[in-house]
Amino acid sequence: MKITKPSYFDSFSCIASNCPDSCCKEWDVQVDAASAAYYRSLPGALGDDLRRLLKDEDGETVMTILDRRCPMWRQDGLCRIQAELGEAALCKTCREFPRLTHDYGDFIERGLELSCPEAARIILSSPIAAPITEGISGGEAEYDEEAMDVLLRTRENVLTILADTSRPVNESLALALLYGYQAQAELDGDEELPFDGDSALESVREFVKIPEISELPDFFAGLEILTEEWADRLRSPAPGAWCDEYRLLARYFVERYWLQAVSDYDLACRVKYIIASCVLIRQLGGPLLRTAQLYSKEIENNADNVEAILDGAYAHPAFTDDKLLGLLLQN
Ligand code: SF4
Repeated sequence: MKITKPSYFDSFSCIASNCPDSCCKEWDVQVDAASAAYYRSLPGALGDDLRRLLKDEDGETVMTILDRRCPMWRQDGLCRIQAELGEAALCKTCREFPRLTHDYGDFIERGLELSCPEAARIILSSPIAAPITEGISGGEAEYDEEAMDVLLRTRENVLTILADTSRPVNESLALALLYGYQAQAELDGDEELPFDGDSALESVREFVKIPEISELPDFFAGLEILTEEWADRLRSPAPGAWCDEYRLLARYFVERYWLQAVSDYDLACRVKYIIASCVLIRQLGGPLLRTAQLYSKEIENNADNVEAILDGAYAHPAFTDDKLLGLLLQN
């Protein structure tokens, strides 16, 4: 099977005790069935603790979180299971994180999650480069092939738009939003047309609207919130400057979400989600790396939050095109 991954994918290595956040904090960890059975069969103090801490909920096994952290997380920042039994004993969630896998049947796309600080550092500092493809063709396509062809082609186009440094980054993001509608039309069956960025920007400049600064943060404040830091950030946005790292951030979101439209043919709401994510991160301000990583931890790792944004992209007034474009194109 063909596997495609970003050029930086293999440079990730967990920095463990040097991590400024941790995947062992705040989240419930889902433990796969094989690991749960193994953990429960262990003798001694570790086995006793694991039998006590593993809980079965709604058909899944999760590690109980104590004081907002995984109880296997030691004072020195290392994992007790890994320290006592070796890396191979980690459950699938911990072994894989922050690596992402999207399996489409005849090809796999891999990536890193922005919610891990070290992965975020790599994503936001690695120069734009062609992805790496390895493996050989095989497997059966589990998708609508015509739709996937459109999505693969239009994804290349939007990545080219985002990489065009002859424009300011905020204009590139505005064009990515506008191109997203053209790509949606092509996904719906319209013919492929050339995209003229200058004309597209010219046609929208008149109707952009500058919303209240709190409108988008207020929407996010209504979602599920994990940390006090995130709640504070949403309460007091302090917009930062646009910088070229936003091209890398948008690229990350595009690589992660664009092809998912093959499941329901709804690309437009994902494009809005991508652009609104970049706009919100800029609105909140602070060091981009920390704000983006925190965003991902709070939003991307919570399926209910992602769903709420995809729904809000159509229905909520904070996501209208005139306001998103206003936030992107205001001077
Ligand atoms: S968040 Fe990333 S760097 Fe930090 S402990 Fe987890 S995998 Fe390692």
